[in-house]
Amino acid sequence: MAEKRDYYEVLGVSKGASEEEIKKAYKGLAKKYHPDLHPGDAEAEAKFKELNEAYSVLSDPEKRQQYDRFGHAAFDPTQGGGQGGFNGFSGDFDFGDIFSSFFGGGFGGGSNRQNNGRGGSGRGFNGFRNSSPRPVDGDDVKTRITIEFEEAVFGCKHEVEFHRMESCEACRGTGAEKGTKPETCSTCRGSGRVIVQQQSLFGYMQTERQCSDCRGSGKIVRNPCSACNGKGHIRTAKKFDVDIPAGINHGQTIVLRGQGSSGKNGGANGDLIIEVRVKNHELFERDGVNLFCEIPISFADAALGADIEIPVLGGEKRKLEIPEGTQTGKRFTMRGEGVPELNNPKRRGDLYVTVVVETPQNLNGKQKELLRAFAQSLGDGNQKRDGFFKKLFGL
Ligand SMILES: [Zn+2]
Ligand SMILES: [Zn+2]
Repeated sequence: MAEKRDYYEVLGVSKGASEEEIKKAYKGLAKKYHPDLHPGDAEAEAKFKELNEAYSVLSDPEKRQQYDRFGHAAFDPTQGGGQGGFNGFSGDFDFGDIFSSFFGGGFGGGSNRQNNGRGGSGRGFNGFRNSSPRPVDGDDVKTRITIEFEEAVFGCKHEVEFHRMESCEACRGTGAEKGTKPETCSTCRGSGRVIVQQQSLFGYMQTERQCSDCRGSGKIVRNPCSACNGKGHIRTAKKFDVDIPAGINHGQTIVLRGQGSSGKNGGANGDLIIEVRVKNHELFERDGVNLFCEIPISFADAALGADIEIPVLGGEKRKLEIPEGTQTGKRFTMRGEGVPELNNPKRRGDLYVTVVVETPQNLNGKQKELLRAFAQSLGDGNQKRDGFFKKLFGL
């Protein structure tokens, strides 16, 4: 894998760039490299991925700070966004939008949410905004993949399959049949929202609601598009390869920004969240970056010492020196034969090998004879066991 490029360089902004500048740079480049515009172009796809990764870090003040301090090592793409982060701001966004454009501007009273009505005839009336409907962000889409143990350790390309809502091509997302156009809703004048003023115990209250005539879209479709039934978007099956970084672990997630469902009215696309499941291995167990395995050795090798071969992940073998007189259960450490660190694949954990001494079975007569002779030769020298019984029974 090539060296990672600096995130600021990827977005073409300076280190001191404002959030706004970063967002703008990202939007521009994302349009340029979006895979839908370059089908089958691996370079554009790679650029798009790199871009999304850079943006996912630099758009998050906390992650950006960490990145500024520690560089790539600080950032764990699998922790990206977390479960709470995705829709975090949309509620505030709507709120601010509504109150600045209505109450702050038109009706006075600034921050006071319960303005008493002024003007009007005193009867309930509908107000409206003379703006287009608010952008609606696309939903995040979740999917799951299962990969082999080795694929998680060394990284891989893996196919993901999922469904997302995409803008209908036949009507370009308008929901209106070809050759027709949606009409602007006369109730809300296209804003999708209406203000309702009502009399209550405390005087007149204004509340904003979604326009019921157009259901908030600001548009009325007389001839619905036959491809999407007038919805403007279509549930679409997607399938593509995703780079799984070396060192990923069971249960971690990979977030691909902007690969979820399409936004509406200029809203951002949702994210694709891929949960990674990792299969077990016959020989190795994993704890973080370290691997563990048990290797049988013969009684003779344990007693006399030997160089034995240990299989390591990836099909290779490494030599392990068993010293003379090795006991069963003894653990050896093979440095750097573990799992690469997720953000720093050059650093790897260790492999811990526990040896299990095998007692010989199915001995023939000659072997048994030799072994008895051997046992006799030890005489009282079978010290360990003797020591054990002495301690136990005071013999
Ligand atoms: Zn359509
Ligand atoms: Zn309306």
